[in-house]
Amino acid sequence: MRLHSLVCLIAWLAMAGGAVAQSRVIVIDAGHGGEDPGYYSWTGHPEAELSLRIAQRIEARLTAHGGLDVRMTRSGEGGLSDETRLAMANAAGADLLLSIHADVASTRASARGLIIYAVSDLARMQVVARTVELGLAANRRDAGRALDERLARERAFLTTLDTALPEDLPLVIDTGRGGLFDILMDAGTPALFVEFPFLSNTEDAVPPPLTDAQIAVVNQLADAVIAHYAQD
Ligand SMILES: [Zn+2]
Repeated sequence: MRLHSLVCLIAWLAMAGGAVAQSRVIVIDAGHGGEDPGYYSWTGHPEAELSLRIAQRIEARLTAHGGLDVRMTRSGEGGLSDETRLAMANAAGADLLLSIHADVASTRASARGLIIYAVSDLARMQVVARTVELGLAANRRDAGRALDERLARERAFLTTLDTALPEDLPLVIDTGRGGLFDILMDAGTPALFVEFPFLSNTEDAVPPPLTDAQIAVVNQLADAVIAHYAQD
């Protein structure tokens, strides 16, 4: 009897789910953690700590807005393998996986902006082969189709982001080096690798709390996610 009730409930939920649009799933991945501290700022603060703090800030802003299903890969200091991070994004059916990192800017101009790595068509053969190898697609044709859809969705979000950011905030979208990151190459969902160049110098370095200028950049990224994905 109880089993029957449960089956009815599941059937009802499935029907209700059909009538109501599902919230888009945003997976926020704080890079590094555990035995992998990432980079260090001049003042000795590890990237792992900063990436978690930025990720938590994005999570809080998205959750406060509502209309999104927001998940974190890690919410504590412990580290995760890329495989685990990707498995979590796949299991959640992520509409977007944002892998959050902090870096030392390579040029002065980008020191206060955002650097986003993405895979490009240049990495196509490799991504398609890996997608099949990982069992995310049955064959190369399916993998190619899935990759086209993924890249289109990533580009659409990047267009929204570019429009949403203030004109004077440098946005570097680097598809050339996107192929260097396993988390992008092996992703079965739209995925972007976001570097906040907050480790750049002693002034901007990590010590808590983040500066107002840094918080503004984090919020601008979160607001672009809301503008692109949140349902009213
Ligand atoms: Zn990193």
